[in-house]
Amino acid sequence: MRRKIVAGNWKMHGTLAENEARLTQLTSALEAESNYQVAVFPTSAYLFQCQNLLASSQVKWGAQNVSQHPSGAYTGEISTDMLKDFGCQYALIGHSERREIFHESNQDTAEKFAAVLESGIQPMLCVGETLEQRESGETMTLITQQIEAVLAKVGIQGFANAVIAYEPVWAIGTGKTATPEQAQEVHSAIRQLLAQYDANVAKSIQILYGGSVKPDNAEAIFAQPDVDGALVGGASLNPTDFIEICNAAI
Ligand code: PEP
Repeated sequence: MRRKIVAGNWKMHGTLAENEARLTQLTSALEAESNYQVAVFPTSAYLFQCQNLLASSQVKWGAQNVSQHPSGAYTGEISTDMLKDFGCQYALIGHSERREIFHESNQDTAEKFAAVLESGIQPMLCVGETLEQRESGETMTLITQQIEAVLAKVGIQGFANAVIAYEPVWAIGTGKTATPEQAQEVHSAIRQLLAQYDANVAKSIQILYGGSVKPDNAEAIFAQPDVDGALVGGASLNPTDFIEICNAAI
């Protein structure tokens, strides 16, 4: 039985005061013990705040990005050791905004994944196709390339302690959500791809769906057999909506 994860990607939003209000509302609404995991991803500048406010709660936190390099002259970057200092459980790897806006390649993504794994933090690998790729029938070709680049670097056992987030680029921040059936189809294909390497890893890995998840569509998406939760962008900034999405994971 895979435990569901509901993760909030705050992107470049938030202030100390806004984050505190959001986290206070979240932790007071969630049960101390639950059968699903909640996590938030603030910008790195606010990881210390999550560490202070969430340490005694059931909510985990993680980084939106990390360098593949351990240290050195990489202005503006943050290392895995720094994320460990701030108690991160997860790090997002290869979010489509990193791939598109910051030109991160599959190779960069694989190196970041390896660095995060090595540090003991759980990588949350984001994969997904553009609308053009979907319409030309290339969804799984593209996702296979994204996953195989990481497999070539860390092997299948590297996925034993990782999470995958399937995020169709055309559904991120657009208000267009993949139907539950479209999500299930890709999640199941990802599991089949991994099963070619190791059946146990394929069976146990948590695969989250991301792309305009909202309170009114979360339950139907979570009901799909291969969907193990959600990576939520916009709706995670509104605590009432995010709590409703969390409750749909029960
Ligand atoms: C995301 O940024 O990972 C995301 C899924 O965003 P949204 O929920 O706003 O589509």
